[in-house]
Amino acid sequence: MSKRDYYEVLGVAKTASDGELKAAFRKLAMVHHPDRNPGDKEAEIKFKEVNEAYQCLSDGQKRAAYDRFGHAAFSQGGGGGPGFGNEFGDFMSDIFENFFGDGRGAPGGGRGRGGGAPGRERGADLRYNLEISLEEAFSGKTETIRIPTSIACEACSGSGAKAGSKPRTCPTCGGYGRVRAAQGFFAIERTCPNCHGRGEVVDDPCTACSGAGRVNRERTLSINVPAGVDDGLRIRLAGEGESGLRGGPSGDLYVFLSIKPHPFFQRDGADLFCRVPISMVTAALSGEITVPVIDGSQTQVRIPAGTQTAKQFRIKGKGMPVLRSREVGDLYIQVSVETPQNLTKRQRELLQEFDQSASDENHPESAGFFSKVRDFFVSGSART
Ligand SMILES: [Zn+2]
Ligand SMILES: [Zn+2]
Repeated sequence: MSKRDYYEVLGVAKTASDGELKAAFRKLAMVHHPDRNPGDKEAEIKFKEVNEAYQCLSDGQKRAAYDRFGHAAFSQGGGGGPGFGNEFGDFMSDIFENFFGDGRGAPGGGRGRGGGAPGRERGADLRYNLEISLEEAFSGKTETIRIPTSIACEACSGSGAKAGSKPRTCPTCGGYGRVRAAQGFFAIERTCPNCHGRGEVVDDPCTACSGAGRVNRERTLSINVPAGVDDGLRIRLAGEGESGLRGGPSGDLYVFLSIKPHPFFQRDGADLFCRVPISMVTAALSGEITVPVIDGSQTQVRIPAGTQTAKQFRIKGKGMPVLRSREVGDLYIQVSVETPQNLTKRQRELLQEFDQSASDENHPESAGFFSKVRDFFVSGSART
């Protein structure tokens, strides 16, 4: 089945802004909405097409993937596949929900998982915040996490009815799970207030789950954090969220990574920076200093004679790995010359002796600066 280009479907340019996309989508969704075109199959198809195009293009990541690979970017999952989540705009979400059911997603894939069965509900997405150290971001790690979640009750197989009894069809909605109400020129469907969308009511609730059909459990999950991850990264584990209701699909688990500040390394992308104090003598006479490396080792840096504060030395390949690549960043050592303190009488004498023998040659920067300052005041006084 050949699919139309998403931009063409929405009638916008490839460069359209989010606002333009949304405006085009609203307009077309109004025109083709099934409630305005009852029994019109073509309008229904158009409406789905418009919705699908908008869902893709309104998501920055999906749009980027689509721009690069076209429809092939999403072909793997097939109809109702992963990726098309709950990311509706604030507009008309109620309507879409009822129109697409749980299996909303790519048309052409049939009715999807949730299809027409009432009461099926996709499980909620879960968020888990995972804080790791910079060293762990460097090497990658496998983290075992425990997440509280709800799973289908085993005692009643998720039906919520006590063993031996059965739920009966909800009389309010006739088992549909939703009731209709007119609102403007749309007929809006709402979740049935009697059965809360289940389509059935339980007279004799299961004792294990009090009729909810779900029980709370703690699950342990092993998360593979790859080397090179950065602060703010989101890892999506499809289907690891809360389990769905009455056979609905599970939600997803999103792991949000944050990286603890390091006591002496600062990170900028793949590069690391470390500020290292050196003595005035090392800076003046040259020397070698030992500096830490993120992998736990140490390395030597040669400090040439006459090194000034803030001078940077680059150590190639000792930074962070780049996620999903073989590249590695660099380590920058920035020295700061430490002025000696708490001098003994003898030390003072030595420094004073040095000072008496010092010339502009020893301090070219100071000499240059003060000569500029002198010029500044001379030309300044010439103006008055
Ligand atoms: Zn139960
Ligand atoms: Zn009902």
